[in-house]
Amino acid sequence: MPLRKYQTDIINDVKTAYRKGRQAPCIVLPCGGGKSVIVAEIAKRTAQKGNRVLFIVHRKELCDQIRNTFETWGVDMDLCTIGMVQTICRHIEKIQPPALIITDENHHSKANSYIKIYKAFPHARRVGVTATPVRLDGSGLKGVNDELVIGVNAKWLIENHYLAPYDYYAPSMVDLTEIKTVRGEFDTKSAEKIMLKRAIFGDVISNYKKLADGKQAICYCVSVKHSLAIAEAFNAAGIDARHIDGETPKPERDRIIEMFRNGQIDILCNVDLISEGFDVPDCECAILLRPTKSLTLYIQQSMRCMRYKPGKRAVVIDHVGNYARFGLPDADRQWTLEGRPKQEKNTKQDDKEKTIQCDKCFRVFPAVVKGKRVMICPYCDNLLVSSRRDIKEEKQAVLQKIEGFVLSYDSPDQCNSYSELLSYAKKKGYKSGWAYYQAKKRGMIS
Ligand SMILES: [Zn+2]
Repeated sequence: MPLRKYQTDIINDVKTAYRKGRQAPCIVLPCGGGKSVIVAEIAKRTAQKGNRVLFIVHRKELCDQIRNTFETWGVDMDLCTIGMVQTICRHIEKIQPPALIITDENHHSKANSYIKIYKAFPHARRVGVTATPVRLDGSGLKGVNDELVIGVNAKWLIENHYLAPYDYYAPSMVDLTEIKTVRGEFDTKSAEKIMLKRAIFGDVISNYKKLADGKQAICYCVSVKHSLAIAEAFNAAGIDARHIDGETPKPERDRIIEMFRNGQIDILCNVDLISEGFDVPDCECAILLRPTKSLTLYIQQSMRCMRYKPGKRAVVIDHVGNYARFGLPDADRQWTLEGRPKQEKNTKQDDKEKTIQCDKCFRVFPAVVKGKRVMICPYCDNLLVSSRRDIKEEKQAVLQKIEGFVLSYDSPDQCNSYSELLSYAKKKGYKSGWAYYQAKKRGMIS
């Protein structure tokens, strides 16, 4: 397969960067843009000149995958070492000095292990690849990289049929304010506690049936326990689901992935396994049940279902309001070596990343198009009512914004508004007078 034009452009831009005297450019390209063939081509050309290549990957699962791509691409493997970062670090004195170091998932490269490798080979040229050249705290790659080579963006890839278009739904029912933050990320334990509430399970399944029925989905969970429980809930509802994680024995994992590929399984539940470059078969739906403050993780997980196929339309069901922190997956983001403005301290978001949710069909879409505020839902023509205020600007949980969509409550105590009480009453077959009385008693209406 030949390289696409934009992929060749990127390779040329990398060459230009070296010619300008740069040592370590980083390629920025969305998930699905074909990063691996770009680096394969760079590795191939380097090896053709008789120079050694060292390829650093982040997880052991990726080594075989990359090796396959490189072999297929015709890279001279006698001159190319592919290894996991920790392994290379431990055996660094045994590594033959490379002329070129390629860093996969380059957003990790400020970690000590990577720095150690870079320092061991100070004269090597480097090139990295990532979809998101930022760290968890939003800081950039300055210090390890000296230029960003920015390729086409996700919108362009969708418009040009390299990625599938998608619908983004955000039926959130999780109050994220209850979840603690540890080292910049939501705490697994407290997230797990919330996500294991039974009411949420019912909603995950009913929303899947409502929004993506029959579509193969990858479901991202907060923990192994949570992932197993979600798989079980899907199975109990008659929808074939399996769980896999990093500890699943390889033959077992391969078997499950093969079943998913054959369509014998509808839902594949996991924690973070199917994120960074992990090669899974195509699917049409991503279910986000893992709130994250990592833009990288958000983009990797939500875009996993967008591989292109003619006529395909992907569905993202975000139950945890991830879009409210980051904007839609294909928002046009401005990348710099310095990084992004602090997400939470800076509530004034770039217009391009602002999103709004239709209160009728619950799809999420950009709030501003060509400098103008969107007043009518582009999907269902609904005049956007109270949702005029951007969800993004709300510091509070997303929950309040999308009230009315909560499909099931276990008890009236879980209802936070008159409209939620109304939907609870409807579900239970109570008269609307009951909801009115309850709402009045709780001071929700006067
Ligand atoms: Zn709508």
